[in-house]
Amino acid sequence: MREPETQPLDVLVVGAGLSGLTAAYTLSGHSARGHQGDSGARRIAVWEATDRWGGAIVTQQRDGFLWEEGPNSFAPTPDLLRLIVDLQLGSHLTLADRRLPRFVFWRGRLHRVPMSPPQALGSALLSPAGKVRALLGGLGFVRPAMAATPEETVAEFFGRHLGPEVLERLVAPFVSGVYAGDPQQLSAIAAFGRVARLEQLGGGLAAGAWRSRRLAPPSQSAADLPPIRRGELGSFDEGLTALPRALVAALVERGADLGKHHRVVDLEQLPSRLWQIGAETPEGYRTVTARAVVLAIPAHGVARLWRDLLPDGAQSLGSIPYPPVVCVALGYPTTAVRPPYRPLRGFGQLVPRGQGIRTLGTIWGSSLFAGRAPEGYHLLLNFIGGATDGAIVQYDDDEIVATVHRDLQRMVLLPESSGPEVLAVHRWAQAIPQYTRGHQQRIAIAQTAAARVGGVFLCSNYIQGVSLGDCISQGRAVAATVAHFLQTTSEEGQL
Ligand SMILES: Cc1cc2nc3c(=O)[nH]c(=O)nc-3n(C[C@H](O)[C@H](O)[C@H](O)COP(=O)(O)OP(=O)(O)OC[C@H]3O[C@@H](n4cnc5c(N)ncnc54)[C@H](O)[C@@H]3O)c2cc1C
Repeated sequence: MREPETQPLDVLVVGAGLSGLTAAYTLSGHSARGHQGDSGARRIAVWEATDRWGGAIVTQQRDGFLWEEGPNSFAPTPDLLRLIVDLQLGSHLTLADRRLPRFVFWRGRLHRVPMSPPQALGSALLSPAGKVRALLGGLGFVRPAMAATPEETVAEFFGRHLGPEVLERLVAPFVSGVYAGDPQQLSAIAAFGRVARLEQLGGGLAAGAWRSRRLAPPSQSAADLPPIRRGELGSFDEGLTALPRALVAALVERGADLGKHHRVVDLEQLPSRLWQIGAETPEGYRTVTARAVVLAIPAHGVARLWRDLLPDGAQSLGSIPYPPVVCVALGYPTTAVRPPYRPLRGFGQLVPRGQGIRTLGTIWGSSLFAGRAPEGYHLLLNFIGGATDGAIVQYDDDEIVATVHRDLQRMVLLPESSGPEVLAVHRWAQAIPQYTRGHQQRIAIAQTAAARVGGVFLCSNYIQGVSLGDCISQGRAVAATVAHFLQTTSEEGQL
């Protein structure tokens, strides 16, 4: 590496997705509640490889359509709402009607997803035997996990508790919706820890849920947080991009140094224990030193930077799979929708495998949030690929659109409906980290490796959850850890 250009930074955040921007924002100021006092981070930089802020968050607009090519909405967690308040985005927050039904396509038609036990009893999605099996399982008539199975998969856990029908028709499509994942591969405790832990509270999942609600501390009502009702999903009137945009504006205002087109390729610890970081930029190679480095990039990116530095951590992180997903944003006239579903009103549909449909699921974007499609049109956001269909990336865009269009004709469109207005075909070559069996062990190995050297911190969606709310909580937590590190080390390096 070449000589670093300036005096050392306190913190360099590598990667400007939501995790990295939240960590930088929290470190740069004291407005985030619960993080009062001097963080010790006066000189902060954020380096991002691409020409965009926000990572997976990609909002686009054209011809009266406004669509998302990555995440579409968020569950408004307390940390996320606090950030919205801090960034003064409250007046731009838009919430989807929580009563909007969700659908599963099963045996040739859409079925409403039951949201409560009485709805499940009345649903045609499950057979009478399937309902009895789920009911008994939910009440705790469940065989214990096989002693020989050290870590159950999502399929094993939910199959054991709620039976094969719930697994196939509800859990598996939900897993597609969140992870684009395979329930046979994902670890129950890593991917659905909150549910998996209910069993440990005693009884079945129903009793566990009841007990956990009683054990939970009363939710703190904060007058400055927007009122949210259970099950509501949020976005902003200009789309999710409002969040990274506001974070970047706040960081600039606070004097942080933000660099796009900065792909970090080298990471080295100097004898002083300062970190030296090198990036490729359009102006050439750039080097800085920093007391702390936050790696807010995907696990495979960390694995590359750590190959010689921390080989055990690199190997662990490099083995986390990120299957490809293609987001296909399509516009259709409302008249293209089959009469029973016209106009589309709902969250969208998920599709269990084995139904002759390749698309994993479709979000009815214009039904969820106002202003997403011009008058007389629907916006449909389709996802295809994932852990069970990696071959999708071999197809060209026209073939992918044709496949999705055919699938939609079989599910919600009139069979004779003509082709859509194609808004985008966005290929995520490595989309969402899969929390497969052994995931927690892999993370523990990586965190132990980082602790060995000190001053390098991991912060992204492969650690404690993939949702936007999880990324914000993770960013805030890492900022607190970095602040503690800075407060307890000297300016020249570690004490
Ligand atoms: C298609 C899709 C749909 C989703 N839907 C939802 C949803 O509806 N709701 C929800 O809550 N979540 C959803 N998610 C998940 C959520 O969007 C992500 O988990 C989250 O945005 C990840 O944020 P991050 O900052 O951890 O990582 P990223 O957003 O991946 O950010 C990492 C950043 O690091 C940069 N980078 C990488 N390597 C380097 C390097 N060497 N040097 C410098 N910079 C580098 C990247 O360019 C990127 O900007 C979805 C994800 C995808 C892909």
